[in-house]
Amino acid sequence: MPGRLPIAACLTLALALVVAAPSHAQQTPPAGPVVLRPARVFDGVASEPHPGWVVVVQGGAIVAAGPAAEVKVPEGARVVDLPDATLLPGLVDAHTHILLHAYDEASWEDQVLKEPLALRVARATNHLKLNLMSGFTTLRDLGTEGAGYADVGLKQAIEQGIIPGPRLVVATRAIVATRTYAPSGFAPELEIPQGAEEADGDSLRRVVRDQVGRGADVIKVYADNARGPTFSIEELKLIVETARSAGRPVSAHATTRGGMFRAATAGVSTIEHGEGGDAEVFRLMASRGVAFCPTLTVLEALARFRGDRPGVDPEPARLKQARAAFKLALDAGVTIVNGSDIGAFKHGEGARELELMVDFGMTPPAALKAATSVAAKVLGLDDKIGAIRPGLRADLVAVAGDPTKQIGAVRKLQLVMKDGVLYREP
Ligand SMILES: [Zn+2]
Repeated sequence: MPGRLPIAACLTLALALVVAAPSHAQQTPPAGPVVLRPARVFDGVASEPHPGWVVVVQGGAIVAAGPAAEVKVPEGARVVDLPDATLLPGLVDAHTHILLHAYDEASWEDQVLKEPLALRVARATNHLKLNLMSGFTTLRDLGTEGAGYADVGLKQAIEQGIIPGPRLVVATRAIVATRTYAPSGFAPELEIPQGAEEADGDSLRRVVRDQVGRGADVIKVYADNARGPTFSIEELKLIVETARSAGRPVSAHATTRGGMFRAATAGVSTIEHGEGGDAEVFRLMASRGVAFCPTLTVLEALARFRGDRPGVDPEPARLKQARAAFKLALDAGVTIVNGSDIGAFKHGEGARELELMVDFGMTPPAALKAATSVAAKVLGLDDKIGAIRPGLRADLVAVAGDPTKQIGAVRKLQLVMKDGVLYREP
């Protein structure tokens, strides 16, 4: 209770509030209006793009969008012409690890055990910039993998305009059942730091609250490992209930059918990876409104790092399994959200997930929605981002060509805007 705080603590609090006040941000939107004139607009919701639309941005928000003849261009507006380009909402990657770098540069274990926190944070600032510049204006970062609460500080650094980066939804440390995660395989008497926070049974309540209190926007739980499910359904329910009462959704890592079944039954918001899912578990997810975040790119990348006989077996077993699961999810009508697990592979390569989703059977407009309006809804940010419509934040990207026809166009970036600030322009 603040009234009972000693005077010294009150002073400290007051000082903290002064220090936390917004500094002079480097990245502030231009005062005047900006008009974007692309060849077409993919608004994030309609499957067909709108030819000849213009979008007006002011003060960090979208203030108008529609046919050029109907939208009044404000006096003194700066006009950015984007001939032959498609303007679309800034992309969302709903499964990232900004504090990891590609496993072919350093193994996950070496990163967790040997890299100093400051080194990892310094790298992360580059990762954030790379992802922003490749069109991803929002990331849901699902666990720092041994880097504590560094995601919370990086999010603040972006919000205060200290470093450029996407809008972040952060998970902090993530939660694992005791002795089910990694690094593992050491002598049993050794205490090896883990890549996530261990908790079980009733302690889950405390750990969820602790992570929320330290800045988690979402709770990430590992519902299984390669050997099968870890937490019981009761434990997963306790996590979901505790998180929900604090207004936080739960994301569950699950690659096995059993882990997916328990997580979906417990009522998590999203299931990550899910290559072991069968038709029944995807139907359960659809009926319970659990979204699927397939992370196809990491499976492809891991196979490449292992050197899985390219040319001989162009699609390794786990990716084949993922392709089959993805089709089952599509058939069951599960909500699919774009998420790549970037960090395990090179930052800035997030567009690959959209290409793989299309390769695995999604239409290009559906893949684009999975990375815009659908992702915004799944993340609970649809009142801010994910579509091009007056009132939403001006998170916009323009790419050469038409990605609703050729998904690969999402790589051909011409413009990146976040909160009305232009980070890249033709
Ligand atoms: Zn991950």
